[in-house]
Amino acid sequence: MATPDARPAKPRPIVNAWAQPFWDAARAGRLLIQRCRDCGEPCFYPRIACPNCGAAALDWVEARGRGSVYSYTVVQNNAPSAFTADVPYVVAVIRLEEGVQMLSNIVDCDPSAVACDMAVEVTFQRLDDEFTLPKFRPVRR
Ligand SMILES: [Zn+2]
Repeated sequence: MATPDARPAKPRPIVNAWAQPFWDAARAGRLLIQRCRDCGEPCFYPRIACPNCGAAALDWVEARGRGSVYSYTVVQNNAPSAFTADVPYVVAVIRLEEGVQMLSNIVDCDPSAVACDMAVEVTFQRLDDEFTLPKFRPVRR
């Protein structure tokens, strides 16, 4: 029986077969994106065909894991949810150096320190035995 303090479990990713290489790599601490063999354009999220030219010739390539904050929000209140204990936290669109964008969190810094165009790098947070989530943190100079 649920108590007033009980929170639902955090949702786990739902993985399509064609996205499995991304999750396998993340579990190993590597960030993969796709690149079209025909037109050369990178893409993310995982797809079965190139969003630029339509070719079904996408290769997995390792991203450098560096980019910048394109946009973000600081979540201050998210109750009741599985994320209540995490507030405040930052949800951000990160533009990787390769040119693709990822939705993730900015971690390892005060949320008030996050700004657009801030340089960030990937870090990995283990969710469970199956999933490790790519997150981003400020580049330390
Ligand atoms: Zn293409």
